[in-house]
Amino acid sequence: MTESFKAVGGCRCDQNPVRYEYTSRPAEVHYCLCTDCTDICGGALALIAVVDRSSFKITANANKLKCFHSKATCHRYFCSECGCHMYLHVDSFPDFELVHIPTLDRECDPGGKPDRWVFVRSKHPLLTLPDDGLPRHQGWANSGEPVA
Ligand SMILES: [Zn+2]
Ligand SMILES: [Zn+2]
Repeated sequence: MTESFKAVGGCRCDQNPVRYEYTSRPAEVHYCLCTDCTDICGGALALIAVVDRSSFKITANANKLKCFHSKATCHRYFCSECGCHMYLHVDSFPDFELVHIPTLDRECDPGGKPDRWVFVRSKHPLLTLPDDGLPRHQGWANSGEPVA
């Protein structure tokens, strides 16, 4: 049985927004507190869906996308007009794109729920983490790894 799933999102441009979609549920979802994610988004945390690369595609206005390499191995895609940072590609996860879930259309099901916090050592001092019972990892940890 193949389940039909699709999540759609895009940038904040009123005219000709960049649009993307993914058509399989994320391999996993996590909260990221690394300074790369937070500083570039201007947010205190990032909420990320790790999506199979083969199911992810840009569906409109790809010509407006720009890439910023926040590390030599970390490639962040954003709209060159409105500045919205929609997803990133990390060389160590070649088969996946990492999608910033808040850039999905709000009514859209992201296809999964966060299962952990990563890079807690980089947490902004003004952010208080909720008492949500999820594992908190000081650095990176894959889904299901023991808490560092
Ligand atoms: Zn835009
Ligand atoms: Zn991050």
